[in-house]
Amino acid sequence: MAEDMITTEGTAGNFIENFITEDIAEKGRYEGKTVHTRFPPEPNGYLHIGHAKAICVDFGMAEKFNGICNLRMDDTNPTKEDVEYIDAIKEDIRWLGFDWEDRFYFASDYFEQMYDFAVELIRKGLAYVCELTPEEMRANRGDLTTPATSPYRDRPIEESLDLFARMRSGEFDEGKMTLRAKIDLASGNFSMRDPVIYRINKLPHHRTGNEWCIYPMYDFAHPIEDAIEGITHSLCTLEFEAHRPLYDWVIDNISAPAKPRQIEFARLGINNTVMSKRKLRQLVEDGYVSGWDDPRMPTLCGLRRRGYTPASIRNFCEKIGVSKTNSVVEYSFLEHCLRDDLNTNARRVMCVLRPVKLVITNYPQGQSETFAVENNPNKPEDGSRSITFSREVWIEAEDFLEEKVKGYNRFYPGNEVRLKSAYIVKCTGCKKDENGKVVEVYAEYDPATRGGDTPDGRKVRGTVHWVDAANCLDAEARLYDNLFTDPEPDVGEKNFLDYINPDSLNVLRDCKIEKSVEGASMPVSYQFMRLGYFCMDKDSKGDALVFNRSVSLKDGYKKK
Ligand code: ATP
Ligand code: MG
Repeated sequence: MAEDMITTEGTAGNFIENFITEDIAEKGRYEGKTVHTRFPPEPNGYLHIGHAKAICVDFGMAEKFNGICNLRMDDTNPTKEDVEYIDAIKEDIRWLGFDWEDRFYFASDYFEQMYDFAVELIRKGLAYVCELTPEEMRANRGDLTTPATSPYRDRPIEESLDLFARMRSGEFDEGKMTLRAKIDLASGNFSMRDPVIYRINKLPHHRTGNEWCIYPMYDFAHPIEDAIEGITHSLCTLEFEAHRPLYDWVIDNISAPAKPRQIEFARLGINNTVMSKRKLRQLVEDGYVSGWDDPRMPTLCGLRRRGYTPASIRNFCEKIGVSKTNSVVEYSFLEHCLRDDLNTNARRVMCVLRPVKLVITNYPQGQSETFAVENNPNKPEDGSRSITFSREVWIEAEDFLEEKVKGYNRFYPGNEVRLKSAYIVKCTGCKKDENGKVVEVYAEYDPATRGGDTPDGRKVRGTVHWVDAANCLDAEARLYDNLFTDPEPDVGEKNFLDYINPDSLNVLRDCKIEKSVEGASMPVSYQFMRLGYFCMDKDSKGDALVFNRSVSLKDGYKKK
């Protein structure tokens, strides 16, 4: 991640904040106005972490200035829009901790007003019906030194008014006519070369049904939506920068009820993933993932299921800051922000992912004892819980080696190891099955080391986690890796589907976990000691527990 992307906490605000501060201090346009922003998702998919950045900017800026932020479904395209998406969008924004109160709108509610504004432009001689087909329009768009052309540009106002009304009434086929703003065919900014502002599209709309067969283009519709809602600052991503003159042109040439200002900031990209609803939808529809909320997805519902907390995502958005240069943030930085939160807030428990039995041969059969352990050393107020210990405990298979290897301090015959919070035990050997697989490990405990301390101060290097075999639960653990093997799977000519990581999900079905997690309510995050942060998955049923690894313990993010 580029250093300049991180806004240092405590310093002056970012550039958007500075613009707004200037605007409201100045006499004129924004004088006496409450800062009013909006978040305008197109309801054609679930929100992803990129949207979270926009949400934090839109709602966050309003919050900073004691203003308000609207939620608006930008549904001017009569394409696949779905109530499922609308509900999910609302849920995700609320989950992040933002509130649009009663200001929930649909852009499609303004279709009639948009139509009227288009008629106003025609009347002023600022728009005309053009009969070039899309292909002809492309052929006539000119280049840097040649202006665009349209033989329809100077048709009489009355003719355009008549044709536009007939476009609306459904008289013409798709592609036969458009309404174009009359701006400047020679402009160096191609979006000002008489852009199309209405097109014929004979598709039913999810809210207006068949009422309309002409639909406004984004560049015309968006400033109108903003103006109708009294938005003061329309914050959007950088790809709209070149469209800002058009945004302003629309506002300046219609009798707009307000004059919003568009400010652009860089889109968020994260490596080893894709960040477009269309591509994410393809992953879902083609079965590459289990759904929009698959814990490998960069969607907010996926991240939530993975164990991300609202605080970690808001903190991430705060730390990456806003800038004017698009760049890709490392996935490890997102993980870093989650780890930061969970390190402070998650309870510690012990779980063994790949168990092998450790038999403590000098511990009396049938005996059991209890240890009180702190739930979270970083949060003493979370108190402690009891864990039990008996003759047989589960340890990780990888915590035993038949022979000592340099630097390895865990179980091997003759070595002393600390069973975390319980006793120091000395490994005495193991039993193997006919295939040579270790099925049991043996050890003897030192009764004088209760709690895990050596009374004589002798050094015990290795400490391992364990679970009482006589008092534990079975669990499934799902370990995740990047969904894509390539850091930039959709850049340039690449087809992102060619870079799907076949090992992005690793399911371990024989895990053993301490009983304290029983009956926990979701969403709940734990630190599985030595293994990472995990959260209970919604697939948990009764005592069939399922945990997702949210993030490992080791921080892969390197501060530059
Ligand atoms: P997608 O390609 O994922 O559909 P989009 O921009 O078409 O993205 P919208 O639903 O139109 O999605 O976006 C709503 C708002 O979220 C817009 O203001 C858009 O600029 C912003 N947004 C979308 N993706 C990102 C991103 N990666 N980073 C920052 N903001 C984003
Ligand atoms: Mg879109």
